[in-house]
Amino acid sequence: MARKISYAALGLLVIVGGLLVLGELSLRQRSEEACGFCARHINRQAGVIAEIDGKRHHVCCAHCAVTEGIQEHKPVKLIEVTDYNSGRKLDPSHAWYVDGSRIVACTHDMTRMNDMKRIENTTFDRCSPGTFAFSTHDDADVFAVKNGGVVRSLGEMLAGVNGGEVKQ
Ligand SMILES: [Zn+2]
Repeated sequence: MARKISYAALGLLVIVGGLLVLGELSLRQRSEEACGFCARHINRQAGVIAEIDGKRHHVCCAHCAVTEGIQEHKPVKLIEVTDYNSGRKLDPSHAWYVDGSRIVACTHDMTRMNDMKRIENTTFDRCSPGTFAFSTHDDADVFAVKNGGVVRSLGEMLAGVNGGEVKQ
C-alpha cells in the first residue's frame, strides 16, 4: 500500500515537473522578442521585419506593421517575412499573403493595448485580423480556404497604406 502511494506520488512529481519544464520552455520561446509597435511577443510563424519612415522594426505580423503605417501616415516597406507554415524567412516580394482570416497569431498580452482609447480597446485590435505570409500561392489558398481571408500579393496587401488611401 505504501509502495502504491509512493509510486503515485512519484508519478505526480514527474507530471508536475514536466509541466514546469514545458511552461519554462514556452515562456522562453515567447519572451525571445517583442513587437516594436504593440509590445506583444513575436509569433514565430508570423514575425516580419518592416521599415517605416526609414527605421527597421521587428514586428509581430504584417498587419501590425500596416496599422502602424496607416496611423503614422507613413509608407511601409517589408524587409523580411515569415512563412506561416514552416517558420522560414521569406523575401516579401515573393511571398503571398492572407489578409482577414479568423486566425490571430498574437492574442496574448491584450492588456498592453494602452495606446488606444478605452472604448476602442474592446473593438479594435491593431493585429487583428492577422496577415500571414506563405511561400507559395497554393499554401496561401489552402490556408484561406480553411481559415477564411483573401490571398494577396505584396503590392495588394500594402495598397491600403502605400497606395494613396492614406490622408497626408
Ligand atoms: Zn505588433
